[in-house]
Amino acid sequence: MQVVRTVKYEEELDAGFTNQVASEPGGDAIWNCLQCGTCSAICPVSIYMDKTPRRIIGLIRGGFRDEVLGSLSIWICTSCYACTVECPQQIRITDIMYIAKRMAMKESQYQRFVVPAVEEAFVKMVRKNGRLTESRMGIKVVRKSGLRSGVAMFPIAWRLMRKHRMSLLHVERMQDPASLRAVLDALEPRHAPTAPAAAPSRAAGA
Ligand code: SF4
Ligand code: SF4
Repeated sequence: MQVVRTVKYEEELDAGFTNQVASEPGGDAIWNCLQCGTCSAICPVSIYMDKTPRRIIGLIRGGFRDEVLGSLSIWICTSCYACTVECPQQIRITDIMYIAKRMAMKESQYQRFVVPAVEEAFVKMVRKNGRLTESRMGIKVVRKSGLRSGVAMFPIAWRLMRKHRMSLLHVERMQDPASLRAVLDALEPRHAPTAPAAAPSRAAGA
């Protein structure tokens, strides 16, 4: 088996990345990481991640912006908070995963994953109608993940439709979605929708 190692030179790193993460709510303790690995050991889904939580924290501190924002791990995180509870340095790893997710979405560094596309569709739909329409969400997932996932999901969708729990035609909508949008914007004005920037094309590797 051929072992391929990608070396990244210091000039290719993003020296301001750690400060950017640390300046977000929940990211301030990142400098205290000991790289003890407790977070990776306790994480119930780390075996499915391409980079463990410990490695994500280490990469952020090293300025490996593209590797973190392009990682599957930040989307696999289930927000169970086990790592945050157990971290001996009180680092809010779950919040840091969210910080990375928000950055990845803002910079469009997530196109190959289904989860962020679903999250984005969810937020847009709730902002627009105030409610979620499952059938429309399902269609968006199939469009993103391919026809095979649509075939796999069809039996459960069919059962839901037969029991009138889901409809292809009916769109769920609250009476006054604008009032909800006003509340959302007042709570998180920084996260109001903005036009995504073009994805950088630097080579990944860590
Ligand atoms: S548990 Fe905390 S200190 Fe240990 S590697 Fe994870 S983030 Fe760092
Ligand atoms: S919050 Fe995310 S990273 Fe932390 S243990 Fe749970 S799944 Fe793993």
